[in-house]
Amino acid sequence: MNGQISGIGSKGVDDGEDFSMGVQVINENKEFSEKLPSYLSYHSLLASGFNYHLVAVFGSQSTGKSTLLNYLFGTQFSVMDETARRQTTKGIWMSKAQPGQSQNGKTMADNILVMDVEGTDGRERGEDQDFERKSALFALATSEVMIVNVWEHQVGLYQGANMGLLKTVFEVNLQLFQKNQSTSQRSLLFFVIRDHIGTTPLQGLADTLMADLNRIWGTLSKPQGLENSQITDFFDFEFAALPHKILQGDKFVEETKKLATRFREVEEESAIVSGRKEGDVLGGDRGIFLPSYHRRIPADGLPMYAEGIWTQIVTNKDLDLPSQQELLAQYRCEEISASITASVFDPVVTPFEEKGHQAAKVLEGLGEAIVPARQETLSAFSVEAGRYFKPVFLKKKEELEKKLDGRLKALVILHYQGLHKRAVQEFEDSVTAYLKKAAAASSASEHDFRETVEEAKEAALARFIEEAEPCVIPEQSWSSFKEELAHTESDIDAVASRVRGEEIRRLRLRIERVIKTKLAEPIELEFRKLSGSGTGAGKSDGKKLWDGVWAVFEKISSDGLDRFLSKAQALNASPEENEQAVWKLKKKSWAILKAKIDEELMEGNILMKLRENFEDRFRYDENGVPRVWKPSDDIEGLYARARESTLLLIPLLSKMELSATSKPPPVAEFIGKRPASVIATSDDEDEDVEIDDDLMVILTDAKQVGLQDRFRKMADGIYVEAKRSTISSVSQ
Ligand code: GDP
Ligand code: MG
Repeated sequence: MNGQISGIGSKGVDDGEDFSMGVQVINENKEFSEKLPSYLSYHSLLASGFNYHLVAVFGSQSTGKSTLLNYLFGTQFSVMDETARRQTTKGIWMSKAQPGQSQNGKTMADNILVMDVEGTDGRERGEDQDFERKSALFALATSEVMIVNVWEHQVGLYQGANMGLLKTVFEVNLQLFQKNQSTSQRSLLFFVIRDHIGTTPLQGLADTLMADLNRIWGTLSKPQGLENSQITDFFDFEFAALPHKILQGDKFVEETKKLATRFREVEEESAIVSGRKEGDVLGGDRGIFLPSYHRRIPADGLPMYAEGIWTQIVTNKDLDLPSQQELLAQYRCEEISASITASVFDPVVTPFEEKGHQAAKVLEGLGEAIVPARQETLSAFSVEAGRYFKPVFLKKKEELEKKLDGRLKALVILHYQGLHKRAVQEFEDSVTAYLKKAAAASSASEHDFRETVEEAKEAALARFIEEAEPCVIPEQSWSSFKEELAHTESDIDAVASRVRGEEIRRLRLRIERVIKTKLAEPIELEFRKLSGSGTGAGKSDGKKLWDGVWAVFEKISSDGLDRFLSKAQALNASPEENEQAVWKLKKKSWAILKAKIDEELMEGNILMKLRENFEDRFRYDENGVPRVWKPSDDIEGLYARARESTLLLIPLLSKMELSATSKPPPVAEFIGKRPASVIATSDDEDEDVEIDDDLMVILTDAKQVGLQDRFRKMADGIYVEAKRSTISSVSQ
């Protein structure tokens, strides 16, 4: 078998060929015609599946076979010219019956293909028994019904040419059957007795023929295993008679019309078969075509099948019908697969393949297009290829499905990945857009971050599903998007927690700024108490300085923490995230306080504070009224007391200590341990702080001494000035 018939269907109807006489399937040189596909296409038969019939005629040369066929089927087989008397039919011709001969409500079947087989009785073709044998084999392997054409006067002539022909038919049938015992293929031999005069009734002729046939059968040497087989194991028989065409022209025409309608389909098989087996002609109007005669070769595979068979026959190979059918099935299934893929699948799928292919990409409308295309391709394949040898068809269908799914899978995966990417991006975009808007709005901090995240996630996932779902083919696990969706969700969660982390950090920094601002004034105030401005004699001795500072700090930082926690709730912060942020916030608050204290207690500032404290005590009286020094005043005494009292402040300021405990404030306790979830990095935000008592030392001993010296000198200056003022007032 070669590729001659590839492309049937797409081929032009008849290529300008003249098919009015039918087509010569096998020519006189025993060559198989290439025109059969065109011929079937010309009659629109290629797509008809099993809805056709194949009938062949046998008989001696010049017994009116072609004439009979032309009358029965309206064909145009050439008939021997009366005057020339030589053979006209060469090889095997095929022609389609004219449709619709009907009589008495009985209609001939549609799509009957008739083969006019060249008869040989050695007159024209010499002793070419070979061709006779080959054509008989060919007809048996392909046709449902063999019309055997005999003259009435030849019936009973056991030695006649007809009998030789029938012997050949039986022999080749046995040969076929032996090779193909699995295919219990039955055939009908339909004897048409010509020039029936009428003196012998049809049943009598039938009985004679049956007897002859059985006799022939008996003489055949049967292959092993079939020694006791009966002729009726392989053949059904029907008999009909026709009047003399020339002598009873009108009756002949009338009877052929009746006979034509017998070529109709019959369903109620069993009743007919039993009659047929016996050669019983009663009820002589029985339909001819039983479903079981059909060779089950789909019409579009017929040319190829017939050619394959002929090739085997011509090359004298054993004719193995099942393997022929399998070969045909393979070839045709592949052809059908390729052509349906090209016509149904490719137009839909290729554009997507051209679009996608490299990176993950959302392929819009993918599922809506490819799933029906896949379905259509497979079902179109099933319709066309399903008529062929089942195991081959099933295998080829599986192959096709694999091929289609391979291509679809690549696209669908790309699409899912695209949806994944897009969903994460959409989520991030909508969350950041929301945050931006919220930050711009006056109530920046009042937004509900958690709700936004949930809504954005839901929306992104919903869109993913919406565009993934059409791609799902329930029984195909590769088309499931579950896994990709799970990855998408976890990616979205990761983005959410990253954005939330950033938001928490932003919130924390904002609260830190608030703490810094809020802490400044009250702390300054605490320190100002040292100078006790306006409080006169009830001047602060500074003993409660650090109590005040710590109290202010605790109040303001805990306000800040509360504020943070309430905002963090809206961010949907996890307990861990809260714990981390609170720790950092406390640490930072302490650093802010420490910086503020350092600022307050810079050397210049301390000196000023000491001076103010000293001046308060020395230059103002108990009622806060400035003293005007008189010589009688105990300037030295006052000076010494005020100086000593102020000097006491220096060690007090030098070290943070609470009055109640005489210990530094519980900073370490306040800050707490570094949460396990905070990984120490180079970023000092994440670093643990060692809070020891040394940290509470603001002025070292050496600095204190230096400060004392400078303060004394300053105090001395003020004392001298006071002293001088009394002298000048005396001298005035
Ligand atoms: P084929 O060689 O078997 O196909 O025979 P043809 O159909 O070519 O006919 C051979 C000859 O038989 C022709 O001259 C026909 O006119 C003639 N013929 C055809 N039908 C009949 C018939 O029913 N009775 C008789 N006696 N002659 C017929
Ligand atoms: Mg003929």
